[in-house]
Amino acid sequence: MKTIRVENLSVAYRGKIALQHVNLELSAGKLTGIVGPNGAGKSTLMKGILQLIKTQSGKIFYGEEPINNQRQKIAYVEQRQDIDLSFPIDVLGVVVFGTYPHLKIFQRPGKQEKKLAAECLEKVGLSEFSDRQISELSGGQLQRVFIARALAQQAEWILLDEPFAGIDATSEKIIIDLLKELRDEGKSIVIVHHDLHKVTDYFDEVILLNKGLIASGPVAQTYTTKNMEKTYGSEIAQTMRVGGVDFAT
Ligand code: ADP
Ligand code: MG
Repeated sequence: MKTIRVENLSVAYRGKIALQHVNLELSAGKLTGIVGPNGAGKSTLMKGILQLIKTQSGKIFYGEEPINNQRQKIAYVEQRQDIDLSFPIDVLGVVVFGTYPHLKIFQRPGKQEKKLAAECLEKVGLSEFSDRQISELSGGQLQRVFIARALAQQAEWILLDEPFAGIDATSEKIIIDLLKELRDEGKSIVIVHHDLHKVTDYFDEVILLNKGLIASGPVAQTYTTKNMEKTYGSEIAQTMRVGGVDFAT
């Protein structure tokens, strides 16, 4: 299992700093949460790691190699609002797309790819939705389809941006249980997350962001009142505590 290492990542949009001098290592085989206020640069960090945006500085490594050499090992489930759901494609078709990095140039997906995709759909419990159009799915089902696509890609890492946004509690439970299962099977999972009530239950490690790295590491040592005050400001952090958010210490 290989770690992802971020060295001195800085990103600005039209001259405005979004992330500054981020250094961190994502542990392999863990469920890691990226947490911070709105506009903290959480999505930017994910896109920066994946080299999907222009950065001011920074190097990203997968093990000892530049991440671009191993991009297919890392699957990305982007924020739902960024996806065009009117595109006419059925569920199995979306999952088959995951197999594309493994196809040779000009090769079209065949029996083998479709079989793999069907197995991945089964893993997320959506076999009977195989022929549906994606526009017919609930938000929670859609997230599971994207997780199946990541599995079809045979990615070792799955990065998800706010997978629980706008999803009911039952679907959220199904998805987090699925992600925990994949973690237990050796996948590395990273989730941008904003519901602070769930951090200690969901994650092994946490990355606290606010336009730069505040802290990162195992939840028990990192998700502390002190660090949360640094991330959100002391007033907001206190309000969270009164509201029942369970910081580690
Ligand atoms: P988060 O995901 O933590 O809410 P983002 O990474 O989306 O934060 O954004 C960080 C900052 O960068 C915000 O101030 C946001 O408005 C700005 N930003 C993000 N994407 C763009 C973009 N494409 N163009 C201009 N500004 C952007
Ligand atoms: Mg975001």
